[in-house]
Amino acid sequence: MRNIPFSPPDIREADIRKVESVLRSGWITTGNETAAFEKALKEYTCSGGVICLSSGTAALIMALKLLGIGAGDEVITTPYTYTATAAAIIAVGARPVFADIYSNSYEIDPDSLRAKLTPRTKAVIPVDYAGIPANYDGIKDVLIDGKQLFSPRTALESELGRPFIIGDAAHALGAEYKGTKIGNVADFTAFSFHAVKNLTTAEGGALLWRDNLLSNSEFYTRASALSVNGQSKSAYQKSLGSNFSYDVTEFGYKCNMPDVLAALALTGLSRYNETLSIRRKIVEFYNSKLKAPELILPVHETIDYKSSYHLYPIRIKGIGEAERNGIIESLYAKGISANVHYKPLPLLTAYKNAGYKIEDVPNAYNMYINEITLPLYSTLSLTDAEYVVECLLEIIYETRKNRRK
Ligand SMILES: *Cc1c(COP(=O)(O)O)cnc(C)c1O
Repeated sequence: MRNIPFSPPDIREADIRKVESVLRSGWITTGNETAAFEKALKEYTCSGGVICLSSGTAALIMALKLLGIGAGDEVITTPYTYTATAAAIIAVGARPVFADIYSNSYEIDPDSLRAKLTPRTKAVIPVDYAGIPANYDGIKDVLIDGKQLFSPRTALESELGRPFIIGDAAHALGAEYKGTKIGNVADFTAFSFHAVKNLTTAEGGALLWRDNLLSNSEFYTRASALSVNGQSKSAYQKSLGSNFSYDVTEFGYKCNMPDVLAALALTGLSRYNETLSIRRKIVEFYNSKLKAPELILPVHETIDYKSSYHLYPIRIKGIGEAERNGIIESLYAKGISANVHYKPLPLLTAYKNAGYKIEDVPNAYNMYINEITLPLYSTLSLTDAEYVVECLLEIIYETRKNRRK
């Protein structure tokens, strides 16, 4: 039987040799390799600046920390995401507020966002779900429209005159919105390099800020100190000569990216355009083979945006959660690992306990119950993709037949 995993990492010989060379170099934590990866990411995205961190979650938390967002503040986000998006808001002591997604696509709906704005709203975290950029212009327009609600506390807030937009682009490295690479679209952007993402350091992430944002130069200095418990010098800087003395000017935590992990993504980034074109081919293959009246396919490319082809989420018209789960089990019985992205956050226990209700975000619920994410990764052969398509269509056919009995 075939074994088609959901999203294995694509590790090449060049990556292994690069990591090995760092392991032999005598310096394995944050240093020159991480700096080189930051530089490469900044160039790749044309953003104003980049700091590499230990995860995408840490990058979201860092953005909120840099902006001084915390207790008493509200941050609006989407319920249709991985828990990290909202958990980052909770981690700094602020309150996540959920705006619903569109009724026919997975990104946050600016109209729903409008209804959630209050004088406590300090930021919005949209998610570039599946690698498809959020409607950034729609979001910005709503925030500018509602700016009379916004009372600035800092110079940066005064300059901006509206809540910050922090993009959760964990899926979206390489995606483009109206001709601009994600990383230079939102005020701040968080990438994840977790093992299942398009580009990986096993665990890792990066925070970027756009190139025309005030205080650009401060962000890096503050973020790098905050990532090593607020130390004014990194371990690497301290290792140079008799440079041992340091100060702590602000309390941070520990979330820096080590060189040995940055090395893995440096080689990965150098072939990333190839990775994207392979992923795109698979998406186009699925698009062409899955044209069926009962299927709703993802839209990975329009005149407004290009995706990073991170996920291939389909929806099956007219089915409920139980039937959807049954289809995933049947796929698994044929050696295919499929998935669901996402169970809306208000359905998870911790969110329920915190008082969130799924009834408040009906679109998120309706998009979730009949969604299935198919395998999509750069080492997936078109023969295997063909097998996925055949099995899926057969299982859907059987599901419908059984229902009619
Ligand atoms: C993976 C992911 C994150 C978190 O990334 P980590 O690197 O695992 O912390 C955040 N948001 C979304 C949408 C993700 O898929």
